[in-house]
Amino acid sequence: MSPFNLQTCARPNILALEPYRCARDDYKDDGTNILLDANENAYGPPVPQSLASGSGSGSSGPELDLLGLHRYPDPHQRDLKQLLCNLRTTHAHTSKLLSPDNLCVGVGSDEAIDALLRCFCVPGRDRILVCPPTYGMYSVSAQVNDVGLVKIPLLPAPSFAVDVPRVLDALTNEPNIKIIYLCSPGNPTGSLLAKEDIRKMLEHPTWNGVVVVDEAYIDFAPDSASLAEWVNEWPNLVVMQTLSKAFGLAGIRLGVAFTSEPIARLLNNLKAPYNISSPTSAIASYALSEEGLKTMRKHKVKLIAQRERLVKELPTVEGVGKLAGGESSNFLLYEMLDKEGKPSNEVALKVYGKLAETKGVVVRFRGKEHGCLGCLRITVGTEEEVTRFLAALKEALREVRGK
Ligand SMILES: *Cc1c(COP(=O)(O)O)cnc(C)c1O
Repeated sequence: MSPFNLQTCARPNILALEPYRCARDDYKDDGTNILLDANENAYGPPVPQSLASGSGSGSSGPELDLLGLHRYPDPHQRDLKQLLCNLRTTHAHTSKLLSPDNLCVGVGSDEAIDALLRCFCVPGRDRILVCPPTYGMYSVSAQVNDVGLVKIPLLPAPSFAVDVPRVLDALTNEPNIKIIYLCSPGNPTGSLLAKEDIRKMLEHPTWNGVVVVDEAYIDFAPDSASLAEWVNEWPNLVVMQTLSKAFGLAGIRLGVAFTSEPIARLLNNLKAPYNISSPTSAIASYALSEEGLKTMRKHKVKLIAQRERLVKELPTVEGVGKLAGGESSNFLLYEMLDKEGKPSNEVALKVYGKLAETKGVVVRFRGKEHGCLGCLRITVGTEEEVTRFLAALKEALREVRGK
């Protein structure tokens, strides 16, 4: 039994928060009311002629005023949340059902990362635990909030698994750790974390804190890998997801936190009421419809085929070393080797520069990250992009390594 206690774990000012309410929380809009409660402009926005409805342009564009852009968006987004619940209810991890009350939606997962810090961590006192190499926003957001960091590195490549004994030990002995941020599949590791390892942290016998699992890349992992529905089995689990990656919607900024109802209530209380814009909500709802999911899965199959192609072809390229990490994401982490066959940051940095400056291909240098010596992180692109990348990489390595 976890000693998690929301009343002593969350910040007192957040627990005491009286959330912002609007008149439409009291009087549901049935579409027939005259809405004079929110100081909106009933004449609507300026929109390009070609996009305005009734402009005679036929069906050539979305009808922006159908989105009701002159109205504030829905602060609760229950329909959108229900679609997310439907997607993540797999019954692979529990027989319980996810409901919209388990969710908080935000401006990308970056908003959720920050909201959790503000919900649980007292600035200048509390800390978070992270496991490098990992996503950079956890520490950036911690610093913005004046929240300290405890770092327990992942085990070495290629497993990049959580060092469970060391993490449990830190949770026992280090004071004021409120949140663990885990990333599964990891960025930049591409490795899925073991469910049993996460369970051990959730079950820590003395630690009163929250385990956050960032599943930004979960749709590239095997089916049912998402632990989203597991939040109904644990009071202190948060699972974050985003439409920025597999759904191809980085531009609309939609992220989601699945968690227990009491934590979801706190997150919803503290967020800005109108954080999800109407266009974002409409586009996300389409993406999560039957039709939208079909397209997403079609694109995913293509990307996974290209990922497998890279795994097959990259080892045949002179100067490419081991795949460092896993194959559960839409990117791969590969070592670049010097002439002695050792992973080298010098080679990796030069290849990175050459690819971008002379061959028009931008990848990510990750060699400075813990346990990633000599590594480049390569996002899986379209078939044509992968073809161009492979040719460019061969040339760049030949030029850099002088053969
Ligand atoms: C890309 C990424 C995100 C996405 O953040 P958004 O704000 O939703 O775009 C979150 N976590 C990780 C680990 C990522 O790599």
